[in-house]
Amino acid sequence: MKIGLFFGTFNPIHVGHLIIANHMAQLQQLDQVWLVVTPHNPHKEKSTLLADHLRLDMVRDAIYDSPLLKASDIEFHLPKPNYTISTLTHLQEKYPQDEFSLLIGADNLRTFHKWYNWEQILAYHRLFVYPRIAEDEIDHEINPELLAHPNIEIVKDVPILGISASHIRARLAEGKDCSFLVTEPVAKYIAERGLYQK
Ligand code: ATP
Repeated sequence: MKIGLFFGTFNPIHVGHLIIANHMAQLQQLDQVWLVVTPHNPHKEKSTLLADHLRLDMVRDAIYDSPLLKASDIEFHLPKPNYTISTLTHLQEKYPQDEFSLLIGADNLRTFHKWYNWEQILAYHRLFVYPRIAEDEIDHEINPELLAHPNIEIVKDVPILGISASHIRARLAEGKDCSFLVTEPVAKYIAERGLYQK
């Protein structure tokens, strides 16, 4: 199977993530996309980051009716800090028949050359990048060596989505509503527990 791994804090998962996962799966003919929830890093305490199980629950609720999307808590059980290369190596050993690629937003491509063992990631895996800014801006901001790499592909002709989890958290903290920015089961999960409220 061709599996796209979409790593994120998903704090909370929003419709942007779902649209991206779905677009990428169709464009790259992926059989599945796994939404890999990044756990708390004990060395980097971030007060706005909800507990791992709450973020995982929301991912599960958001994708409950999609055969294409799967929630993964694989990094919860791996040594910390979580390096993408270690998770990839672990998955490839566990599922040797499957081919894993990475799906990332263009904001993450800007810092990709600082990821631990990024060259090794690119040697064995394809990286599909979803633009988060207009295409011509991407060319200016990203290291030309990365842009030319045969295993990096910036997807074209997709809508630019001005949605972010930080914006959603800010809205909720102000007591505003987040309908349509997150799916209904996620909105319900957040409302029932009063998550992200001040
Ligand atoms: P935050 O606002 O808290 O930083 P986020 O909305 O960027 O969160 P993450 O969980 O950090 O969400 O993102 C997971 C992945 O999804 C990252 O690779 C990020 O670049 C990508 N992503 C999230 N939202 C968008 C978007 N609107 N357009 C393109 N990529 C996105």
